[in-house]
Amino acid sequence: MASYEDEDHTQDYLFKIVLIGDSAVGKSNLLARFARDEFYSNSKSTIGVEFQTQKMDIDGKEVKAQIWDTAGQERFRAVTSAYYRGAVGALVVYDISRRQTFDSIGRWLNELHTHSDMNVVTILVGNKTDLQDAREVGTDEGKALAEAHSLFFMETSALDSSNVKAAFETVVKEIYTILS
Ligand code: GDP
Ligand code: MG
Repeated sequence: MASYEDEDHTQDYLFKIVLIGDSAVGKSNLLARFARDEFYSNSKSTIGVEFQTQKMDIDGKEVKAQIWDTAGQERFRAVTSAYYRGAVGALVVYDISRRQTFDSIGRWLNELHTHSDMNVVTILVGNKTDLQDAREVGTDEGKALAEAHSLFFMETSALDSSNVKAAFETVVKEIYTILS
């Protein structure tokens, strides 16, 4: 955790949180929805963005979440260790309409634990709940996997906004509780 002092000398918090998961599961759009309330129907939002800092109010304290996006690195299986360095939170994302992305979760969790602290606060996120008719991964399966690894769990839609704020807030609140 980085803490710093504002001009008025009040202590504040800055938490680094990383987004991981297979390509096209919706990581960049979860961040775009959360930080800017935007959605991109193509994947252009992925390119170039390194991180976004979002101010949040937790128990009357101003907390800054610095949320890192892979900028498409995951396509080449080459998310660098620098990406994970200093992370205190992680959203591990799959697409509920593509089972293959759910099958990759174990690999992403291994990668996360190889490159960062074991106690990084982690939430498993099943994105694209708006695609109910194309669903390939049941809510119960997501929940069971999360329980097996002691992770938080939530299903979201970056398209219709459901649970997006809640998913980020769950992680930030837990980090705050642990570190404050
Ligand atoms: P990333 O590679 O994990 O960053 O995924 P992107 O955010 O670039 O999204 C990949 C594709 O999925 C894009 O075409 C998005 O518009 C689409 N997408 C992202 N989130 C959702 C969602 O919640 N619902 C639907 N239907 N499509 C989504
Ligand atoms: Mg992306």
